[in-house]
Amino acid sequence: MEKFKLFKPGDRVAVAVSGGKDSLTLLYLLSKYRDRLGVELVAVLVDEGISGYREYKQLAAEKYARAWGVRLCVTSFKEGFGFTLDEVVFALMMEGLSVKPCSACGVFRRYLLNRIALDLGADKLATAHNLDDEAQAFLMNAIQANLTAFLKEGIVDIKAHELLVPRVKPFYFTPEKEVMTYALLHTIESPYVECPYIVYSIRNVVRRWLNYIELEDPMVKYRVLALKELLTGICKEVSDFRTCKICGMPSSGDLCKACELSERVRSFYSRKSF
Ligand code: SF4
Repeated sequence: MEKFKLFKPGDRVAVAVSGGKDSLTLLYLLSKYRDRLGVELVAVLVDEGISGYREYKQLAAEKYARAWGVRLCVTSFKEGFGFTLDEVVFALMMEGLSVKPCSACGVFRRYLLNRIALDLGADKLATAHNLDDEAQAFLMNAIQANLTAFLKEGIVDIKAHELLVPRVKPFYFTPEKEVMTYALLHTIESPYVECPYIVYSIRNVVRRWLNYIELEDPMVKYRVLALKELLTGICKEVSDFRTCKICGMPSSGDLCKACELSERVRSFYSRKSF
């Protein structure tokens, strides 16, 4: 955190928590060091509306935020867009699943996390992405020939637009196993429930594949991240923002991804009567 100057004294930091071990560990560490860092914390949680999953994880987030004296703000897909992720996935399934559940989930969650961080006047949005997450995301984008996606986010973002709260990732260079071990040693517990949509995720396949290679080559994830950093340095992206015609947020096209997808879901439900 100090080396990369993730925070500066006086920062108000929104910490994205899901109720999983990674984000709870991040919340624990930031609450432990908040005085030394001189930052003010507020935890933010997005309820996607995944029945049988999110409600259990949310309880864990509420319990630990209370225990560590951090205010928790909750928003939801239902509140922000008018539908739950379960309803989005149903619509996508009926239309042949051209967008995977995790992609839709990511678009809406990123949008709402930024929105809630903006509303709270946060200077930074801290997320618990770790080394494994970053290596997986880089390989997924490489597989999909999505050259620009991996250039967008590093350990710390510059403020690319006044309506985008810069993201910081304190666990960027930390392997998932170390975060898990730390959580275990500090008895940070998260209910063992898995998101039902993980089976549709390419990330899950990449994750298993990387873990398998790691058995033979313990440094592989660090090298994947090093390659990402190298390419990011070579291909500096020039951000060219437009304004979403619906919500007014920064966007690469006429509509931002969240509005584009939510229009699609709304149109599906307006054509159907159940
Ligand atoms: Fe969302 Fe996919 Fe994670 Fe489930 S597994 S919470 S759908 S990103």
